[in-house]
Amino acid sequence: MGEDLVSSSLGSFQYDPAPESRLTARLRPNYGLFIDGEFTNPMSHDQFETLNPATEETLSSVAQASSTDVDRAVLSARRAYEKVWSKTTGAERSKYLFRIARLIQERSREFAIVETLDNGKPIRESRDVDIPLSAAHFFYYAGWADKLDHAGFGANPKPLGVAGQIIPWNFPLLMAAWKLAPALAAGNTCVLKPAETTPLSALLLAEILQQAELPAGVVNILTGDGSTGAALVDHGGVDKIAFTGSTDVGRLIQQRVASSRKRLTLELGGKGANIVFEDAPMDEMIEGVIDGIFFNQGHVCCAGSRLLVQESVADDVLRRLLRRVDQLRVGDPMDKNTDVGAINSSAQLARINKLTEYGEEEGATRYSSSCPLPDKGYWFAPTVFANVAQSHRIAREEIFGPVLSVLTFRTPEEAITKANNTNYGLACGVWSEKGSRTLWVANRLRAGVIWANTYNRFDPTSPFGGMRESGFGREGGRHGLEAYLNV
Ligand code: ADP
Repeated sequence: MGEDLVSSSLGSFQYDPAPESRLTARLRPNYGLFIDGEFTNPMSHDQFETLNPATEETLSSVAQASSTDVDRAVLSARRAYEKVWSKTTGAERSKYLFRIARLIQERSREFAIVETLDNGKPIRESRDVDIPLSAAHFFYYAGWADKLDHAGFGANPKPLGVAGQIIPWNFPLLMAAWKLAPALAAGNTCVLKPAETTPLSALLLAEILQQAELPAGVVNILTGDGSTGAALVDHGGVDKIAFTGSTDVGRLIQQRVASSRKRLTLELGGKGANIVFEDAPMDEMIEGVIDGIFFNQGHVCCAGSRLLVQESVADDVLRRLLRRVDQLRVGDPMDKNTDVGAINSSAQLARINKLTEYGEEEGATRYSSSCPLPDKGYWFAPTVFANVAQSHRIAREEIFGPVLSVLTFRTPEEAITKANNTNYGLACGVWSEKGSRTLWVANRLRAGVIWANTYNRFDPTSPFGGMRESGFGREGGRHGLEAYLNV
């Protein structure tokens, strides 16, 4: 046994770099808009660049869609709805969804690389979570397309028509899949707008739609910023808006849609609580809490960003947590050993910096990982705040970054009061050996999703969505169909 290995303590092993190759991702230097089954130039010829947040290098240039382009896309979706898609049988629609799912699987390596380059998330996560779950979503809804009569919405439920879908940058392909798969299964046509910092995987998906020979206009993909999203929301030819993003923009969209006949579903922010009782299975819990906040750099609307830990075990839990945080490997997202990648944009990094400064000013105790950070790109060391009070901004506002706020409680009642002391209501976790206690607590938590002895577990069969300022409507499962049916 080598000297190094003998003298090394657990956690200090060195890893050699294990970078994924970029060669599989054949990015074009520029992309047009995907309208009516073809890539076309935007009317204005405006383009903007999309960056690799880990290196700040330009990856490609994409089109900025104007309201004229939105109009073209909505008209194409309307035509496709009336002439083709609404006349297609469920079994036929199913076939297309299966094809799309299989093609995503076939090109999964390429998708994972593109997602990691454009978003900054570790390749391990895009490879093992984002891309397989995206394919799984299409597979799942392929299964529903010819069984809508049995979905619990009465006989022969009808689609809504043209769906305008606006998605965020944290899970670019997965959010596209969450939106497109149920909409198409239910018989709608779509205009999808990816986020401005992560358009590339949606454009790769457009290539797949061509490969799958999906009829022209059934899915249109418009890249652009918030103004493109706003034009889509305001367009009179859209029957439904589905939005995932920040609570502020969600609120704005709700106001704009209020005076129209459009249907709306919103999946917004969160301030999820992970509640740890003294009898929690310690090792699993630590891993779950770490995953709950540091998965995807904490760019997760349902992130477990508040840890509520029972006072009797609080010191021990904090000690173990900090040791584990220091072991997280932060750096090159393309390295297969990386745990925490780059922050998605300089704007998001600035927001995280600002909120964590408030944390210190308001008196919480900050622990940041001592990991080295790369010189170029947008980086934030995984951070834990202890001694956090409920009034602190880091306990109330969504940081959307790798920052955990730790609070304590003594009784289950106090844990519930503190967990519910938020305007949000997306997700919570409960960690306890006792099933009866977990159920008792879960029944009193005001959140759309409650995980027991696990966190951030996703499956296409399971509905996901929020209450209060986290939005309304469900995605996934049978419930996800309801958002796209006239029921
Ligand atoms: P974040 O703050 O996490 O970037 P946003 O809510 O700003 O989230 O963005 C989510 C999506 O909403 C993106 O695709 C963005 O371009 C779009 N968007 C931003 N502003 C508007 C708006 N006023 N109307 C419609 N869509 C918008």
